[in-house]
Amino acid sequence: MQKERKLIIAGNWKMNKTVAEAVDLVNDLKLSLAPIKEVDIVVCPPYTALSEVSKAMIQSNLRLGAQNMSEQNSGAFTGEIAAGMLKEFSVRYVILGHSERRQYQKESDELIAKKALAAHLASLKPIICVGELLAEREAGLMEQVLETQVRGSLAGLSKEQMEETILAYEPVWAIGTGRTATAAQAQEAHAFIRGLLVKMFDENVARRVRIQYGGSVKGANARELMSQPDVDGALVGGASLEARSFADIIKNSI
Ligand code: PEP
Repeated sequence: MQKERKLIIAGNWKMNKTVAEAVDLVNDLKLSLAPIKEVDIVVCPPYTALSEVSKAMIQSNLRLGAQNMSEQNSGAFTGEIAAGMLKEFSVRYVILGHSERRQYQKESDELIAKKALAAHLASLKPIICVGELLAEREAGLMEQVLETQVRGSLAGLSKEQMEETILAYEPVWAIGTGRTATAAQAQEAHAFIRGLLVKMFDENVARRVRIQYGGSVKGANARELMSQPDVDGALVGGASLEARSFADIIKNSI
C-alpha cells in the first residue's frame, strides 16, 4: 500500500506484562517483524520493563515508547518519571493524554501541552491522543471536542516540533470495546484534525504530521483503516499484547 506518510504502528501495553513476559513478547515480535521496513513499529511497555525491553530490542527494527511522563524535569514529584529518565533507556516516543489518563488522572489539555513541550526538549517524540466520548459524538459535538483537545494539547509547539509530533485519534467509545470506528468515520475525523493543523500551523506541517487511529484495531480491520488517505498508522491496545495479533495488524497494513 503506497502512502503519503510512513505508517507508524504503536502497541500500548498499558498496565500489563511482567519484565519476563515483556521480554518474551519483544523477542517474538523481533522474529516475526524483522523484515519489515515500511512501518515505524513502536512498543510501549510499562516503565518497569523499559530497561530489559530496551536491551532486547538492540539491533532490531522495533522502537521503544513510554506510556506517559511528567511535565517536570526533576524534583519533589513522588511517583513521577521525567523525560530524561526515559532517555536513559533509549526511549524515543511517549504517549501523552491517553483517554484513560484524561479520565482517571484528570489530565487536562493544558497539562498535556506542557508534557509535549518537555518531551520535545528531551528529543522524545510525543504521541498525543485525542478523541470524543460516545455521548459527545451522539450530541453532534465530535468536531468541537476534537478542536478543543487538538488546540489545547498542541498549544505552544513550534512548527518544527509539530512535525515531530504524532497524533492519535482514539474515539473513546472504540477503545477496548471491540467497537471499531468505520473506515469512513476514522477518515472523516482524521481529515478534520489535519484541517485544524493547517489553520494552526500551515499546509506543509499538516501534510507531514502522522495521525494514528486507535480503538479496537485488529488484523481483520487494519487494512481498510490504513488505506484511508489521512490514516497514517495505529495505536493498538489489546491486540498489542500478543505477538501474533500485533504482527498481523502490521503485516495487513502494508
Ligand atoms: C488504546 O488503549 O489506545 C486502544 C486503542 O486500545 P484497544 O486497541 O484495546 O481498543
